[in-house]
Formats: sequence, C-alpha cells, structure tokens
Amino acid sequence: MNELMLYVHIPFCVKKCLYCDFLSFQAETAMHKEYVYHLKKEIRQKAKLGNGRRVSSIFFGGGTPSSIGAGLICELLKTLKAEFDVQKDAEITIEVNPATVTGRDLEIYRKAGINRISIGLQSTENGLLKKLGRIHTVEEFLYSYQLAKKAGFTNINVDLMMAIPGQSLKQWRDTLEKIAKLGVEHISAYSLIIEEGTAFYERYQEDLKLQQDGEQPRELPDEDTERSMYQITKEILEKYGFKRYEISNYAKPGAQCRHNLGYWIRQEYLGFGLGAASFFDKCRWKNTSKIREYLEDIYEDDQEEQKLSFEEEMSETMILGLRLTRGVSKKKFEEEYGCSIEKVYGSINEKLKKEGLLAENDKYLFFTPKGFDLANYCMAKYI
Ligand code: SF4
Repeated sequence: MNELMLYVHIPFCVKKCLYCDFLSFQAETAMHKEYVYHLKKEIRQKAKLGNGRRVSSIFFGGGTPSSIGAGLICELLKTLKAEFDVQKDAEITIEVNPATVTGRDLEIYRKAGINRISIGLQSTENGLLKKLGRIHTVEEFLYSYQLAKKAGFTNINVDLMMAIPGQSLKQWRDTLEKIAKLGVEHISAYSLIIEEGTAFYERYQEDLKLQQDGEQPRELPDEDTERSMYQITKEILEKYGFKRYEISNYAKPGAQCRHNLGYWIRQEYLGFGLGAASFFDKCRWKNTSKIREYLEDIYEDDQEEQKLSFEEEMSETMILGLRLTRGVSKKKFEEEYGCSIEKVYGSINEKLKKEGLLAENDKYLFFTPKGFDLANYCMAKYI
C-alpha cells in the first residue's frame, strides 16, 4: 500500500518576527476557532484522496501551531485519524515556540499521539533573539524544553539560525555547543535569508547593497564569516554524535525527520490549511493564501494544479534527492523512469565530478562536501 504524508498549516503567531516571510499573522482566539472549523471541513472533503494509502507522517507547521492551544490541535488530529488510515507508528510532529506551551499542553499532545516536537529557538543569545523579534528568551526555551522532556517526548528538534545581523562566529559556535550538549535528537541549522517584504529587508537595505557589491556589510556577517559558520556547524554537531543527513539537517542515529525525508524523496503529501502545498498523483497544487477565501471554503488558489512532465519529474528527483547526504538512488531512478541517471544526466555528472563536486558509489550519486558548499550552483545544472 502506498504511503502518504499529511501537512496541516496553522498560520497564526503571537507576534510577527522581523525576518519572517512565512504565511503567518496575529489573530484573536475567535479566528483560531473559525479557522479550525474550516480546516476540519477541508480535511473531510479531501479525505477520499487517501483511499488505498497509509499515512506515515503528520506535521503541524506554521506559523506557530502551539499558539492556538492544545484543544484545537487535538480536534484536528482526531479528524485526521478518523478520515485517514494513519499508521500506528506514524511520526506526528508539532512545531512549538517557547512561551506558547504549558506543561499541560505538552502532556495533552503526548497523550493524543504526537511523538515529535520541533522547537523554534534560533539562538542562545538573548540579544540576538531580541534583534530577530522573537517573543521568547533563552531561559523560556530551556523551560519549555524541560517541560517537553517531562511530558515524555524523546524526539525533539531545535531550529537554529546562523548569519543573524551582528552575530559573531563565537556566538554561533556557543549556540551549537549549548544545544548539542542539551541532548536533543535533531537540529535544523539554517542561514538567515533576508527576504523582500520583511521588516529586515527595509532595515538592512544598505547592508544588502554592500554585500551585493562585494563590500564589507556593517551588521550582516561578511561572506567569509558566513562560510565559516556553515563549516563549523558540521564539525561541532558531529563531535556531539549528530550526523548530517541533509544540507541543513542533523540527527542522532534513528532520529531523522521522516516527514521531511519524504519531501526530499518525493513521497506524496496532502497539505491542509491556508497556503498549504500538496503533491499527489504526480501533480502539485497550492491552497489559497487569502484567509477570507479560505474561511469561505474556497481552498485551492486560482492557479491551476501543475501536472509534472516526465522531464520535470526527473529533474525534481535529482534536485531534491541531492539535498540528502546519501544522494539519489541510482536503482530507484532507473525503476521509476526506465533509464539510468547516467543516460539522462551523464554529461552534467561528468562535469561536476571533474570539478570535485559530485561523487558516486554503487548505489547512490551524491554531492561531495565541496558540492554541498556550492549546492545552488550544482543544482541549477539539473533544472
Ligand atoms: S514564529 Fe516562525 S512563523 Fe511565526 S513570525 Fe516567527 S518565524 Fe514567522
């Protein structure tokens, strides 16, 4: 039986972080309830798509799912379990922000079957958290983390961020060391990207321009510091028993995120909620990003669903699969497309191998450490 993953988007946050370009905003409790009412309707309406498929993972993402309270999250989980064939050992994750969960909430999540918590922290420096516009302190994070442990969670991820304005290499090193020492099972370590439309984009206009012109920015880390941050991440986390399995993701043995792995190996998923994306039966589509439309049960946006061509599918397989340290399975590629990777991408592979960016063993084709450093350049070749 085919496996299916489910994603539920909760677009609410206590306050918008200054760098954030995710689909999220502040809202009152009444709006949370109304939204969940329509989410449940959407889930029921699309449940027939799950016929003949078993759900291997569920992910409550956002926004800040924990900001709507455990009661509403449990209602959603109950609806999903009633409408889909959820495997007994399915990975069920919820993203939480420190200062938005109580010990009681965490116990309720655990009892409802949620078995993975992903905590957004970003840095262990209170000054940097303030600069990012985060609503919590490091101490509040530590408290939430202890509560999660006490509630029985044994699979916890912490999100961390490098290249924050004003962040030194030492501060990044300290953040990695402190969180690795805590004993968490998974760490996602991303670089801050300043996106248009965010408060940071306005604030760091001048710095962005200096960066573009190859000059020394004032507050943003320069290119060398950013590269060093990226390189010490692997070094430090490996020292504490984490293994990198994707460009930005590190896990203790057996703790890789099954849901995200599914995205990278192109497993089917259905997304529910505002702006949620789906990939199903070789098609990709996205829900509306307009809350008014969503609350009128107009779920899909006005763009047509995208049926992938054979070439697009192969290209996606390469681009997503090469994000993983193990790379793209040569056997699976051949089984899926009826021809070898070599036959389709032989000349690109040769070029990248000559540049020391790509390598292979008898099963997989994968990026070398240098290839990972230049991942964007390499991936562009497969488009
Ligand atoms: S908590 Fe996350 S989703 Fe919400 S504003 Fe901050 S970065 Fe964006």
